[in-house]
Parts: sequence; structure tokens; C-alpha cells
Amino acid sequence: MVDDIFAESFKTDPYWWEAAPRPKLDPEPLPKTCDLAVVGSGFTGLSAALTAARGGRDTVVIEAEDPGYGASTRNAGYVGRTLWHKFEPLMKKHGAKEAARLQNDAVAAHHYVVDLIEKEQIECGFVYCGRFIGASTPRHYDHFATDLEAIREHGVEIEAEMIPKAEQKREIDTDFCHGGLLIHGVGAVHPGLYQLGLMERVRNADARVIANTPVTNVARASGGGFTVTTARGTVQARDVLMATNGYRGAEMGWLQRRIVPVKAYIIATEPLPAQQLKRMMPGGRTFIDSRNNIWAVRLSPDNTRLICFGRTGINDGDLRNKARLLRDGLVAIFPELADVKLTHCWDGTMGFTFDKLPHTGVRDGIHYALGYCGAGLPLGTYLGHKTAQRILGEDDGGTALDERNFPTRPLYFGTPWFLPAMMGYYNMRDRIDLWRG
Ligand SMILES: Cc1cc2nc3c(=O)[nH]c(=O)nc-3n(C[C@H](O)[C@H](O)[C@H](O)COP(=O)(O)OP(=O)(O)OC[C@H]3O[C@@H](n4cnc5c(N)ncnc54)[C@H](O)[C@@H]3O)c2cc1C
Repeated sequence: MVDDIFAESFKTDPYWWEAAPRPKLDPEPLPKTCDLAVVGSGFTGLSAALTAARGGRDTVVIEAEDPGYGASTRNAGYVGRTLWHKFEPLMKKHGAKEAARLQNDAVAAHHYVVDLIEKEQIECGFVYCGRFIGASTPRHYDHFATDLEAIREHGVEIEAEMIPKAEQKREIDTDFCHGGLLIHGVGAVHPGLYQLGLMERVRNADARVIANTPVTNVARASGGGFTVTTARGTVQARDVLMATNGYRGAEMGWLQRRIVPVKAYIIATEPLPAQQLKRMMPGGRTFIDSRNNIWAVRLSPDNTRLICFGRTGINDGDLRNKARLLRDGLVAIFPELADVKLTHCWDGTMGFTFDKLPHTGVRDGIHYALGYCGAGLPLGTYLGHKTAQRILGEDDGGTALDERNFPTRPLYFGTPWFLPAMMGYYNMRDRIDLWRG
């Protein structure tokens, strides 16, 4: 039977890997010693390695798989300037001053990554396209307006405007939402090319990237520093950074109890006519909606197709089945795509935390930076850099995300057994919200 939603070339690898194939590095021998061992070769690990290596530290990045195997080359490429939380709930939980401090870190992360791309001339299709956050219900529209007021009132840098439903088609040609919030000054990249560009700079700074070498243990060494044990031998490191986010294993059990791995899924459509794309997304903005379990759509960096993201954390069987359901979601946003075919559907793992905040700090002498809750492109790059500054002993003032209480839950040891119930709850709340309007 011909399954005609799939293009002949359909793949379950990331679309990004077409233009940015995963490099196959020669299996280098592990050095006996180094100043800094970074575990993980995504944005966090590479950004930390770049700052540390340029600061004169002998730095080794150790990656379990091919370089950039994790979420950094699987994400949607949105370069935002917010945390997972909306501002009002953040204020309710932490107070206005602390909420502004936390939110301003996300703004600083955004500026850091944009400056880095420009300064390093990383060719990764960065565009300042703006983001349209569609209100799934009229109430959500009102919440956005109140949230925007609160953000402005508390001095968080934002350039944004409310777009009523009657005007939303100038941003996106859909009846899927009830107006929304247009945030200017946020962008999008090709995440695969961004990761490759970072890695090239890291290697040019004389840091080593050692692939296909899972780290199995990190322990204090008797003579000082740490013994990093891998499947291919050990390295003695003065400092260690865990930059493993959602892909962490049992190699540091304390982190495992604090990070909730959540699978996310994306599809890419076949190339579509330029005029049709221009009509569907006239503003060229990245789009997300306001459900708990969001739908997201963007143009590919070369403006030839759509990339769509949704049904996060839900096990729908294999990736072909997932692709069908994501495509249904895309068609609900753009009914004119009823006949569209897909070329790719892939997954990746995000690292969530119980307080929905990223965390950096030091535990038993080991540095960590992780838990970006789906916003790690800017935050991972920034917190990797900040952690390296701390390791270099540079007094940079730190961030609001350093050394915060990092919560876990009783009976949580790294397998998120509660996720199906939690996602079921979020989906039910989304349905109730849509019903209430
Ligand atoms: C589908 C999807 C869409 C997303 N969309 C966006 C978006 O649009 N914008 C945004 O800002 N964020 C987005 N995110 C989140 C973002 O991709 C991540 O927060 C970010 O990539 C985290 O980077 P990282 O370097 O910390 O971790 P990762 O890129 O996940 O890298 C961790 C690496 O550690 C390695 N590793 C793990 N354990 C070991 C070990 N024991 N030994 C050696 N290596 C190990 C893994 O193999 C992996 O390569 C998305 C995520 C997903 C999955």
C-alpha cells in the first residue's frame, strides 16, 4: 500500500543533518590529562569549551555519540529571549524583582548568542524574524496583554505588540488562533550549522572534541582534580563540566534525579512554492501557539519548506505514526496543506527541571549547566560560556540561575514514570481551555 503522506526520500534523521551532516571524527586517543573535561558536545559544552580554550585552558570535549548528536542539532532553531515560564506566573512564584532578574538572564542569553554568531561569523542562516505567539483562545489573548504589561512595568527589555485577530493574517494566514503577541527582536537559525560552526571554532582554539566515547563515571582523584572514566579509558581533569542536558545517564546520579528527559518531535514538509509560503507566513515570523503542549511552525532557513513541532512528550508509536499526527496538526493550522508530503520526521530529548528553570552550579566539585526546558539554544550557549568564565576565575557577576535550589521529587531516579499522566493532564487542560474559549 502506498503511504502518500511520505515523500519518496522520507527520513527519520533531522532535516538539519542534510546541510550539516554529523562529522565522523577519527577516533582520537584520549589525553592522559587536561585542565577541563566537558561532557557533551551540544551548544552548552561547545560554548564552554570555546571560552575555556581561549582563556588558556587545555580543554577536551567528550561526546558519547557523533558530535552534536543531542538536542542541539535536532531542535527547531528558535532564538528566543524568554524562559519557559510566562512572566506573571514567574512573578507570583519568585516575586517581581527576582522574576525580572531571571527573565533578564534569558534576554542576556539572547544577546550573547546573537553577538557570538556575528563576531565569529558563523554561517547558520541567523535571521531576526520576530515571533508570533498565537493565542489559542480569546482568554489567552487577554493573558498575553496582561503579561506584556507586567514585563514592561518591571523593566524587562522587550519590544512587542498585541496583534488582534482581525489583523493576524498579516503575520500568519490561519484561523487557528485568536490574535496573539508579536515579539520583535528574536530570531531563528539553522541549528545544525550553528553547532558545526561552534565546533569548528572550538577546534581552531586548540580544544579537542573526542566523539563516540561515553563517559561512564566522574570521581574525585586522590591527588586532586577528577578521574573521568570513559568507555575508551580515563582522563585526569582539573575541572569537569556536565553539559549533557536531556541526554544524561547515570554517570552523575544527583543530576539524573533533577533532570526530566522529555522527547520532542518535528517534521519537515517537502519544498513548497515560494508564493504559497509567502502567503501563509507573510511576516516570515517563527510561530508558536499558547497551549501547554505547543504547536510551532517556522520556515526553513532557505525559505523553501515548513518545519513543524508538536505533541511533545507523547508516545505515539514510531516516527512514521508521529509524522502522521504532526502533519494533522500542521493541516489544522494551514488547511490548504491537506495534500502536503513530508520529507523528515525526527525526535530529540529536552531536559526539563521540576521548577522549569535552567540550573548551573557546582556539585561535589563538578560543574553543571543544564535544564533549559526547551529554550537551550540561547540559554545553553550563554550558561556554557558563563560556567567557563567561573572555571577561569573571571569575576563576571554570575547569573540569577547559578546555584539555585535544584529540586527533585521523591521516587524520581531519572525515569519519568509520571510523564504520560502529566502530559495527559496538560492535554486535558488545553481541551478545557479551548472549550471555554
Ligand atoms: C525537538 C526539539 C526542539 C527544540 N527547539 C528549540 C528551539 O527552537 N529553541 C531553543 O532554544 N531550544 C530548543 N530546544 C532545546 C534545545 O535544543 C536544547 O535545550 C539544547 O540543545 C541543549 O543543548 P546542550 O548542549 O545542553 O545539550 P544537547 O545538545 O542535548 O547535548 C548533550 C550531549 O551530551 C552527550 N552525552 C550525554 N551523556 C553523555 C556521556 N555520559 N558521555 C558523553 N556524552 C554524553 C549526548 O550524546 C549529547 O550529544 C529543542 C529541543 C528539541 C529536542
